[in-house]
Amino acid sequence: AGLHDVGAGVSVCRACPRLVTWREDVAHTKRRSFAGEPYWGRPIPGFGAEHPRILVVGLAPAANGANRTGRVFTGDRSGDWLFASLHRVGLATQGTSVHADDGLELVDTRLVATVRCAPPANKPTPEERDTCAPWLDREVALVADSVRVVVALGSFGWDAALRTYRRAGHVVPVPKPRFGHGAEAHLAHQDGPGVTLLGCYHPSQQNTFTGTLTEPMLDQVLGRAAALARM
Ligand code: SF4
Repeated sequence: AGLHDVGAGVSVCRACPRLVTWREDVAHTKRRSFAGEPYWGRPIPGFGAEHPRILVVGLAPAANGANRTGRVFTGDRSGDWLFASLHRVGLATQGTSVHADDGLELVDTRLVATVRCAPPANKPTPEERDTCAPWLDREVALVADSVRVVVALGSFGWDAALRTYRRAGHVVPVPKPRFGHGAEAHLAHQDGPGVTLLGCYHPSQQNTFTGTLTEPMLDQVLGRAAALARM
């Protein structure tokens, strides 16, 4: 099975009852400002290059963002920040991501959510996180030949990346590398060059409204990813 099959498979997954109910309730009710639009209301596959050198790992789809548009990070404020920065550092063909057919392409980069369904209050339970982990594992395995850099957005993505890459046979340093903005850890693999994991504050409104994450800070980490990927 390839990336397309994994995307098709995940998009009909119903393994987490609470998330299935939530994603569909939100899609049925709709936010008033999107009342005239269709909602996807299903799990969100990965998006971007099929042989990426950079994998960006987020948390989970936003209820009225990707859960509406069907494309990861597309149609919400976090995505506005992320795609603008990807574009500034040369990893996206345009700086906006409004809907799934807007022509946007990522350059050498693939974008995935750790948990593929929108969770209430953006907080999946540990059980939901673990139930969804095999989808991330599959996607990581399918892009393993090309990925050299993994950007984790937030500590949730950082921990998920460490667990996924450990399961894929990478060596996770002891003590476990700590998440931070700009943190770097090399995860070696006996059969290849391994990957460099980069930590980046999540471009959530909680971080961007408060100035915890600024545009230059985001560009710094994504620019570092771009530079490492070209080495
Ligand atoms: Fe399936 Fe993941 Fe959605 Fe749970 S969160 S229903 S495992 S796609």
